Amino acid sequence: MILTKEIKFSTKGHTDIISITLQVKEFIEQSHIRSGIITLFVPGTTAVITTMEYEPGLIEDIKKHWENMVSSKESYEHNERWKDGNGYAHVRSALCGPSLVIPFDEGKLILGTWQDVVFIDFDNRPRSRTVIAQIQGE
Ligand code: ZN
Repeated sequence: MILTKEIKFSTKGHTDIISITLQVKEFIEQSHIRSGIITLFVPGTTAVITTMEYEPGLIEDIKKHWENMVSSKESYEHNERWKDGNGYAHVRSALCGPSLVIPFDEGKLILGTWQDVVFIDFDNRPRSRTVIAQIQGE
């Protein structure tokens, strides 16, 4: 069986890191599908989905390291061309990729003890976001 759902939320942009673990777990519980995989996909080019330990220190570390690796203050051809100032967000998003697959079994998401599913919005303004969640299983 395959079930698809949109998970919707707002972000502050500027490398806002949001845990969506609860919404993902709820979708699996409500589906009554016992075992399979869930794919999470970002339909956009300035945000990503990944996993991390969701604690304030690491949230700040990840923001700092993204700024060091792909600085928002550099010049970008994209910004020259489109005047939207978010060239760094597109580069970060492309480096990280738009999707994540997680297995689940007996109705439970298989994550490490401290592992959370997070959405990172790199864009340079607040956004309303949608993540496509698709369960395949039985
Ligand atoms: Zn842009």
